[in-house]
Amino acid sequence: MLQCALHIVRGVEHMRRSIAAVLVGSMLLVACQTVRTTEPGAVGVERTQRMLISSEAIEKGAEKAYAAELVRARAAGTLNADAAQTALVQRIADRIVRVTSVFRTDATAWPWQVNVLRSRELNAYCMPGGRIMVYSGLIERLELTDAELATVIAHEVAHALREHTRERVSRAYGQQLILVGAAVIGGANSQALDIANMVADVTFTLPFSRNQESEADEIGLELQARAGFEPRAAIVLWQKMRRADVGVPAFLSTHPSRKTRIKDIEALLPRVEPLYDSARSSTR
Ligand SMILES: [Zn+2]
Repeated sequence: MLQCALHIVRGVEHMRRSIAAVLVGSMLLVACQTVRTTEPGAVGVERTQRMLISSEAIEKGAEKAYAAELVRARAAGTLNADAAQTALVQRIADRIVRVTSVFRTDATAWPWQVNVLRSRELNAYCMPGGRIMVYSGLIERLELTDAELATVIAHEVAHALREHTRERVSRAYGQQLILVGAAVIGGANSQALDIANMVADVTFTLPFSRNQESEADEIGLELQARAGFEPRAAIVLWQKMRRADVGVPAFLSTHPSRKTRIKDIEALLPRVEPLYDSARSSTR
């Protein structure tokens, strides 16, 4: 997610309830598995991840959670209300999706979806499996250029490539096991595994970790450069976000502070600028 969540506590409680419904030993769960979801790329993201829930389960949950969002938005008349804006977001997303194979070869075949929600909120997300939503408030209130919008989309796509939601749900599930013990979770009332709820929790109320945010910045920057969008635009985007963010208490956010974030992006520019140059010269 792009913004820090303001409802973290509520989100954690909700997540606990969802997890309490998990059926231990279900096909949906995997034994603790250490994986690296992506190739390191030029930016060199190498961290391995611990997963307790299968990709398939998360994928099914995301499909359901995203469909529910589309139904809600359509009913409210807030889905893709501006055709030109939707087409722009779609064009930029297409270019980014085309270069995802650098990080994982399966991603171009994902069931990608791109939609715009009419909302004043400064937000965007990409649910697992490539289900993108950009909020119109972000584009309009921050007056984003195409390259800045590409930064946003590439950052969210990077979260999906790294399967950060699956990792976040796995972590919460592991904590729950420790808290209440497997006996409770495996008890009588454990038929429905509501992964869709958990995916929604991670998307709307639980922040990603600092580490995950940094990875999304790094991979996103490379995606944007390879797709032919000026990587320096990432700096402007985060400066705009910082200015718009005034008033959000820092303790609520696990995001890297905006200053650190911008410094980290600046340090990576020499690695991704040659990729941008060659993307530009190949389209000329
Ligand atoms: Zn993020």
